[in-house]
Amino acid sequence: MSGTYNFVVLGGSGAGLGIAHSFLKHIEPELKKLGKTYHVYIVDSSSHFFWNTGSPRSVVSAALLPADKLFMPIADGFKSYDSSLYTVIHGTAESWDVRARTVTIKLADGENIQALPYYALVLATGLRTPSPATSLHGNYTNTKTAIEDLNRKFASAKSVIVCGGGPTGVETAGEAGHFLNGSAGWFSSFPSNPKAKVTLITKADRLLPVLSKPRALTGEMLLNKVGVDVVYNVGVISSTTDADGKTTVNLSNGEQWTADVYIPAWGTTPNSEYVPVDLKNDQGYIKTNGTTLRADAAGPRVYVAGDIGDYSRGGFHNLYGAIPVLATNIKRDLLAAAAFDTPDAKPEGPDRLFTSNNSETQAVPIGPRGVGALNGWPFPSFLIWLLKGRDYMVGNIPATVNGKMVMKDNT
Ligand SMILES: Cc1cc2nc3c(=O)[nH]c(=O)nc-3n(C[C@H](O)[C@H](O)[C@H](O)COP(=O)(O)OP(=O)(O)OC[C@H]3O[C@@H](n4cnc5c(N)ncnc54)[C@H](O)[C@@H]3O)c2cc1C
Repeated sequence: MSGTYNFVVLGGSGAGLGIAHSFLKHIEPELKKLGKTYHVYIVDSSSHFFWNTGSPRSVVSAALLPADKLFMPIADGFKSYDSSLYTVIHGTAESWDVRARTVTIKLADGENIQALPYYALVLATGLRTPSPATSLHGNYTNTKTAIEDLNRKFASAKSVIVCGGGPTGVETAGEAGHFLNGSAGWFSSFPSNPKAKVTLITKADRLLPVLSKPRALTGEMLLNKVGVDVVYNVGVISSTTDADGKTTVNLSNGEQWTADVYIPAWGTTPNSEYVPVDLKNDQGYIKTNGTTLRADAAGPRVYVAGDIGDYSRGGFHNLYGAIPVLATNIKRDLLAAAAFDTPDAKPEGPDRLFTSNNSETQAVPIGPRGVGALNGWPFPSFLIWLLKGRDYMVGNIPATVNGKMVMKDNT
């Protein structure tokens, strides 16, 4: 075969960027030596990368963590490469013709559609949270506006409801409580003079399901310390925004509560609407070979990276484990096809295999403290603050976007 081969990456967040940079740094040069010309397309609905990890603090106040610090233009991350090697497309994958090996992109101008044929395809479109303030919902401007809207409400809030007992809900409630109520002294379990009623509601009978029960109870104790009440076994059925900007929520126990600020932080939706139904599991995640990270049912050279796949429970520890595995298997497939000059060539030797990390690993800042575990071992509160709670790791943004994260060849 001759001509230019399209290497298409859908999704320009941690997973998609990790693979796109791995390809440009460590795979494309090898293919070039074999006389093959590749072009990388990075497609994202947002022109800017979003560091959602920082959103639990950012939604509360710009004085704590301004929204602007969480975004970075995706295109800026690729400026160091020869511009003939890549194109960053601001648009949304709307459909995927598996047999024709083409994805259809609705460009961000809202009018134009681009059909993009691929030789190799990486699916990395992740998932979204119910609130646009904590994950991208289209372009980054929607998220920025949602965060700024919450910042305005928090400035005078006397009542806050956060719904969801996972890490996003707990961190957000902790930030809200600490901002509005401060922190109780060493010998008190609750601030003596809280300014606002902050409530975390969860329909589960415990917080933080990844962590052990004792650590989950520590989480509740730390929330109380910053003036947050936790209500278990109650879910939010529906919510309406009132004329005065407050939110009224209807709860599963039949009660109706109204608050100045309401943040839904439970349930995630995979961004897989463009994926044919037979390639997804019942929850909408893409069926992935859990060890090679190929989408076997989608034809050759189709790969799945990050939270959109059904191969792990997500999070950075799984993402950073998956990127080198996937990059290695992509390299093997493409070098074999190039060497034998046939797209159906199979690489020799074994694939590199991924193992999902399902250990008790999670770090959850709660106001000035935190609770967590690393492979089942306790994560001391001060370390959680130092490594994460101090600035929600915003220092990782440039390295993620410009590819320094995958500078070392690990393929
Ligand atoms: C609020 C929050 C806090 C978190 N905190 C932590 C933490 O502290 N530690 C941790 O380990 N993990 C954390 N996570 C999880 C972590 O952020 C994810 O595991 C990681 O972002 C997954 O990266 P991804 O690239 O797979 O997907 P995502 O980050 O979800 O990105 C998907 C990308 O695809 C784009 N996209 C979506 N649909 C389309 C489409 N149809 N066409 C084109 N582009 C599309 C989106 O715009 C987005 O840029 C957190 C997640 C959230 C939501």
